[in-house]
Amino acid sequence: MPNILDKIIIIDVEATCWEGAPLAGMESDIIEIGICLLDVQTGEITDNKGILVKPERSTISPFCTELTTITPEMVAKDGISFKEACSVLRKEYLSQKRVWASFGAYDLKQFQRQCSAIGIGFPFGPSHINVKTLFALKNKLGYEEGMAGALKILDIPLKGTHHRGVDDAFNIAKILNWILNN
Ligand code: AMP
Ligand code: MG
Repeated sequence: MPNILDKIIIIDVEATCWEGAPLAGMESDIIEIGICLLDVQTGEITDNKGILVKPERSTISPFCTELTTITPEMVAKDGISFKEACSVLRKEYLSQKRVWASFGAYDLKQFQRQCSAIGIGFPFGPSHINVKTLFALKNKLGYEEGMAGALKILDIPLKGTHHRGVDDAFNIAKILNWILNN
């Protein structure tokens, strides 16, 4: 079945992390899935939200909270399971039928690792856009610029809190929209 191409799903995940390697016995878990839809025709960004996810194989370290602002209390209160979050993507965002985009390869790899580790299906289709690589190629940079740097080059203000999935997804959508229209 062909992709629905009216809107692109932008994804940015935050995951449990440590200053170096994971603590003994822990594996990095997704704790927020930032999402929005970019309307290809109008450039409108809609349905921007962050789904908080309860980590099942690790805990949120103070280092991780410092980076992301996400606390153990926030996910305990509002988090859902990773499996449920994948189901929201499929049902509410038609994630298997749409093209999806993220900044770099990390989000794709983390989803693949976690889905295979816990034995659930991958919630996205095969068409993935790596906005980081596309931005570098479009501008003939010769290197891959980070999200904040890319916004700076474009003179687009960084909205919200960097390293919060909900805001990163919105900002990445702005970059992708620029690429599609310039
Ligand atoms: P980002 O989308 O840039 O906010 O990063 C996604 C995830 O990558 C974070 O939630 C962390 O798990 C990990 N990460 C990003 N930057 C760092 C860092 N400086 N040190 C450790 N982990 C990081
Ligand atoms: Mg992020």
